Amino acid sequence: MQAVTLLAVSKTFGPLAVREAVAAGQQAFGENYVQEALDKIAALADLRAQVQWHLIGPLQSNKTRVVAETFDWVHSVDRLKTAQRLSQQRPAHLAPLQVCLQVNISGEDSKSGVAPAELPELARAVAALPGLRLRGLMAIPEPAGDFEHQRRPHRALREWLEALRSQGLALDTLSMGMSADMEAAIAEGATIVRVGTAIFGGRAAKGSGPAPTVECGSSS
Ligand SMILES: *Cc1c(COP(=O)(O)O)cnc(C)c1O
Repeated sequence: MQAVTLLAVSKTFGPLAVREAVAAGQQAFGENYVQEALDKIAALADLRAQVQWHLIGPLQSNKTRVVAETFDWVHSVDRLKTAQRLSQQRPAHLAPLQVCLQVNISGEDSKSGVAPAELPELARAVAALPGLRLRGLMAIPEPAGDFEHQRRPHRALREWLEALRSQGLALDTLSMGMSADMEAAIAEGATIVRVGTAIFGGRAAKGSGPAPTVECGSSS
């Protein structure tokens, strides 16, 4: 079976939760919101060399510079314009930014992600950008209850990766699977699973107050 990297999705959890996970041996962290991530990365500057930061949430054009300067990976690239900006803005002293293309695998109107039909053209263009290294594909499929239904979109994403590889692109990454469907994703070849709830516990609903930080046994 393929090696699977566990990406700990630390969105809404504070720096202390990340620090504890690092102490337990975790190295890769996923964040959805750029500003929240920047605050956390700054608070954890002493750990910077030990930790890889992955942006997994939507990326607006006005945030590309700070993302190119700060993150190790971006999983959510779905437009050439964003990729070009990230490539131009990646500082020369850093390794190329590792990127995945987010694919709208379930075909929902509301979701981000490139339409599968447009994927080959986007992949070829992004693979040619000097400041980026295109590693593979990412998807957030519609939730599905049972294992067999969960497998289908993951299988479709794997087949797209295989198609791109057969066209000569050197891709090695399938970023798919979250707390609820990671087993199905791994069965279909996931190489990175993005897991939040199953590691850090439940998140407060968005907009219901400040982000919770981890309890550390000091409640009175
Ligand atoms: C929040 C999030 C995850 C983690 O979800 P869990 O269900 O908490 O494991 C994974 N990927 C993306 C893109 C997310 O936004």
